[in-house]
Amino acid sequence: MSEFSIQLPAAAFAQAFPFHLAFDAQLRIVQIGASLQRICPELRIGAALLDYFQISRPRGIFSFTDFCTQQNSLFIVAPRTSGLTLKGQMLPLIESGLMVFLCSPWVTSLNQISTAGLSLSDFAIHDSVTDLLTLLQARQTALDDASRLAALLSEQRAELVATNRQLAEKIAETARAEKALSESEAALRGFYDSTPFLMGVLELHDDDLLFIAVNETGARRFGRSQQEMPGLPLSNWIPPDDMNMWMSNCRKSLQKNGTVSFEYQRTFGEQTRWRVATIGPIAGDFGNRPRFAYVVEDITERKRAEELLAQDRDAAIESSRLKSEFLATVSHEIRTPMNGVIGMAELLLDTPLSEEQREFALTINDSAQSLLTIINDILDYSKIEAGKLILSITNISLSDVIGGVSSILRARVRAKQLALVMEIGAGVPSDIRGDLGRLRQILLNLVGNAVKFTERGQITLRIDAEQEIDGFVTLRFTVTDTGIGISEAALQRLFKPFTQADSSVTRKYGGSGLGLAISRSLVELMGGSIGCRSVEGQGSTFWFAAPFAIGTGPALAQPPQEQHAHTKQPDQTINGRILLVEDHLINQQIAVRQLAKLGYTTEIASNGREAIEMIRRAGSSFQLILMDCHMPVMDGFAATRTIRDLERTQARRLPIIAMTASALQSDRDACLASGMDDFLSKPVRQEELRGMLARWNIPAVSALPQQPVPADTLIDERILAEVRAFDSETPGIFSEIVNSYIEDANQHLRIITAAL
Ligand code: ADP
Repeated sequence: MSEFSIQLPAAAFAQAFPFHLAFDAQLRIVQIGASLQRICPELRIGAALLDYFQISRPRGIFSFTDFCTQQNSLFIVAPRTSGLTLKGQMLPLIESGLMVFLCSPWVTSLNQISTAGLSLSDFAIHDSVTDLLTLLQARQTALDDASRLAALLSEQRAELVATNRQLAEKIAETARAEKALSESEAALRGFYDSTPFLMGVLELHDDDLLFIAVNETGARRFGRSQQEMPGLPLSNWIPPDDMNMWMSNCRKSLQKNGTVSFEYQRTFGEQTRWRVATIGPIAGDFGNRPRFAYVVEDITERKRAEELLAQDRDAAIESSRLKSEFLATVSHEIRTPMNGVIGMAELLLDTPLSEEQREFALTINDSAQSLLTIINDILDYSKIEAGKLILSITNISLSDVIGGVSSILRARVRAKQLALVMEIGAGVPSDIRGDLGRLRQILLNLVGNAVKFTERGQITLRIDAEQEIDGFVTLRFTVTDTGIGISEAALQRLFKPFTQADSSVTRKYGGSGLGLAISRSLVELMGGSIGCRSVEGQGSTFWFAAPFAIGTGPALAQPPQEQHAHTKQPDQTINGRILLVEDHLINQQIAVRQLAKLGYTTEIASNGREAIEMIRRAGSSFQLILMDCHMPVMDGFAATRTIRDLERTQARRLPIIAMTASALQSDRDACLASGMDDFLSKPVRQEELRGMLARWNIPAVSALPQQPVPADTLIDERILAEVRAFDSETPGIFSEIVNSYIEDANQHLRIITAAL
């Protein structure tokens, strides 16, 4: 429905539209214009519209809806009672729900107007207003259309603007991406072409590899331009053997679908260069011609550095070997005179001495013992450093270990009026498998230190079983003292070689500062750990824990049964006859005297050859040989081998005991390998000698008077004089010799310490 309405007061309306007619939705007349009423006087308000009027145009108007739908059409209506025809338009009044027929009589001449009883004034406003209305309506429609169009246009324009903006953004973005791409491509290309690595892509053919691409470095190396390279075969440049290596590595990398690296050498005239190539398959479908990215790097300099490093390492290993060899030699050299010092001191103590002389001899013995301990420490440390220390595992009884430690330290503990308490926790087995000597060495070091650094109170050694799994038990040994303690700073340095908490302490207490470092290495060798807690002025607690196999029985240190059998045939021998093979005069004298004191007679050979001669002459009269290893003319190893060869035709085998200052496991092994049966390490204590002879069932000639040393075996007059002096119990000269030996040994020690 059109939306325009005519807002006029009723009188003005009636005047403007004298022929109008208003009717409601039921087509009942509700208002009649004054002129219309005049020409149709029978018209009544409330009458039915279609009873009075016939609608000539448009056709088919029967209901109110029909009027509404045709409102814009020209209506031609004929009142049934009047000869006049009315023409006009329908105007729906929305507010009131009425329809107004704005009409005028259809007249063609003035004459007709007057006949109908009308005047011109009945027409004047109505027609122009109707025209105006039509015009207005048309304009309104046009305006509506235009504004709709404008809205549509502006909508489309906004869309266009937005699309434009998006497009512009897209373009800018693309430009940016293109710029970044070309920059990164330039960077990549720069890297690709200027890198010192040879790079590119190769294609695998049945019998060759073809270049697909190669970087500038590669092209330069091949003597071509980068553009010339694609399609050229690699075999143009490398020999057939290398070609095979390249092809097989390509196949390998294809097979595992990953990179493969391989090194090779290239020779250019005099020069050999090392290269490493890395190849990897490129993903993509290249038919049956797979492609590989490859990089070749020149590693000649790295190889040279590695070679130098390996040389340095070999040199370092060699120098470490030389160092430990040197230490072993020096230690051997010191042990020989030490044998003299300790042996003579022991013999001296067995003679009648004044109190003062006894005290001097005891001091010599003590000092020599501590010197020997230090030498042993240095030797141990050098062995540990050279990785040559091997544990020798046997069944050991823990009570023996503890008993040994306490008996060795008993005198020192008593002298300082300390108490030494041993505690064994629950579950500690009586027997374990371990290295008796090394376990005792660690405990002696820890308990010995505790005794050394404690003036009052007590020292406790406690053993606890921590954990038992699959026949192994972890034992924790704890040594607690009430001594001087260790400062926080010194605790940090503990267990490092040559470390002493405080040098003033060292001067007071002595020591090499190696004990704890050795203990730590030994504990670690046993698979354990070591540590210390301490409060300065209150005391220290050292502990170590290590796993041990649980033992099966008491330790046995008996020589093999087979060897016993040989020694149990002394029928034709004179009891107690020992052959001593030793080149060192003092050592000869010591051994002869020690053996004499034990009730044995001794014959001396000063080298291997002499020994063999003596055995050839009177072999059956000897019961045992004490054999030095390093001697002039023929050494102990060669002599032993010859003796064993001689024995092949005899039923008897003489026990040969090595007696040497070399203390390394390798020396011991060499002795046994040459055919010796057992091992005594110099300096040899009288008690050790007694134990060894008892072990080999060598009976002493107890009734035999002490044999004087035959003078003809002594070559050096000086030694003779020394021995005479000794024999006549005037130990003055003897002490001098001992002193000179100690000085000698100290000199050696200083050399070792400097070398370390
Ligand atoms: P040393 O032969 O000098 O005793 P160690 O390696 O056995 O060498 O000990 C190193 C240092 O650790 C000692 O010199 C001492 O300063 C300190 N130390 C070791 N044990 C104790 C202890 N029980 N009480 C106090 N200080 C100790």
